[in-house]
Amino acid sequence: MILATDEVSKSFGSLKAVDGVSIDVRHGEVFGLAGPNGAGKSTLFNLLTGLPIRPDSGRVLFNGVEIQRRSPRWIAKAGLKRTFQTEAVFESLTVRDNLRVGSAYGSPGRPARWNNARCEAALAAVELGCDPDRPAAGLSLLDRKRLMIACAMVSEPAVLLLDEPAAGLDPADQEALIRLLTTIHAGGTTMVIIEHVLSVLSALASRMAVLDSGRVIVTGRPQDVLADPRVVEAYLGP
Ligand code: ADP
Ligand code: MG
Repeated sequence: MILATDEVSKSFGSLKAVDGVSIDVRHGEVFGLAGPNGAGKSTLFNLLTGLPIRPDSGRVLFNGVEIQRRSPRWIAKAGLKRTFQTEAVFESLTVRDNLRVGSAYGSPGRPARWNNARCEAALAAVELGCDPDRPAAGLSLLDRKRLMIACAMVSEPAVLLLDEPAAGLDPADQEALIRLLTTIHAGGTTMVIIEHVLSVLSALASRMAVLDSGRVIVTGRPQDVLADPRVVEAYLGP
């Protein structure tokens, strides 16, 4: 087990956004997280990476070490990196400078030591074939997603957390994303993927959990989880 939560909870006022969630992610696997909007998925990622919030209670374990009180910088340096739900890029900056800025995100305090070889390696890992010195403006949505993933890959994380990477992609680009993530995973990166596009989770995840109203309602293999009546009901609503 490389990453686990033990009864993690977080409330915003009277709203229990994450309510006693326990998940465990095995070394080398792709673990999926699904659930309707507002279920608490992104909040759970925030709690895993300490950015910008902390659990009210419960523990987060990374390689067996409690990290729920560690700084975002410590967590990132320890090898847990995330992407966000948006593919915002700095349009006026080059691809390389976006990578420079984006890869330092979550590690404030000291400017990241810049390593051009790592930049090239990260761009190669995400198969972003464009000239790194071109402006990021005009990149396709898929290429902006590649750039966002590259930002997380610069530090060669042990675990990569992806928040809805397939959002907005057409089926052909979803297939390209699946191929890309399969390649990165094959390179030894453990992944946790939040995804609404359930076919992407079916293609990538060995196990998954479904959250609803801050709680895990089902965990298991995607083919079993997605056929579970409780999951169907959570998606259809009351
Ligand atoms: P999901 O990613 O599953 O769609 P979120 O984790 O983003 O859901 O949000 C879960 C719930 O917590 C939502 O009701 C959301 O409005 C609320 N929420 C998330 N972050 C905050 C915050 N910083 N302050 C107040 N409410 C929040
Ligand atoms: Mg979300």
